[in-house]
Amino acid sequence: MSLTFPNFNAAKNKAKEVLEGNLIVEPPVVAQKLAESYELDVRYYIFKLEYKEVAGFIDVSKNTIAVNGEDSPARQNFTIAHELGHYLLGHDLDGTEYTCLFRDPTKQKNTPIEQEANCFAANLLVPTMMLQRYLDRFSFADDEQLSRIFGVSTDVIRFRRLYL
Ligand SMILES: [Zn+2]
Repeated sequence: MSLTFPNFNAAKNKAKEVLEGNLIVEPPVVAQKLAESYELDVRYYIFKLEYKEVAGFIDVSKNTIAVNGEDSPARQNFTIAHELGHYLLGHDLDGTEYTCLFRDPTKQKNTPIEQEANCFAANLLVPTMMLQRYLDRFSFADDEQLSRIFGVSTDVIRFRRLYL
């Protein structure tokens, strides 16, 4: 069954559940470790020319998340978290709504399941409580510094600050 609207609350709650279940209270949240705790292998590939624009995808038949080995570690962390989101939110990964994650967000299909996976990833890697705690303690921290602490791109920090 395909979703009509994204369920952002379900995505946020799942991210919280994963952090609590894995006893994670401090950044950086390393998505690869979390994926491995759910028996998923994370593999890094140099994609062929025709797939250079792909950031990653999940192959459930092999329990593997494939990641673009040429992306930055921060970008890879988000890719893994995004694909883990698809997996844990029970998305139909053989359905037509699911696509690879692309490096350029403007190329991404904006289906409800893609939006849910992005919401899950942003909340998993930059949990509200942790970000708030850093902003309270280090009020002069800029997006660049926060991105290093949280192991994400500055785009993710900017996006998360909008929703505090
Ligand atoms: Zn996706």
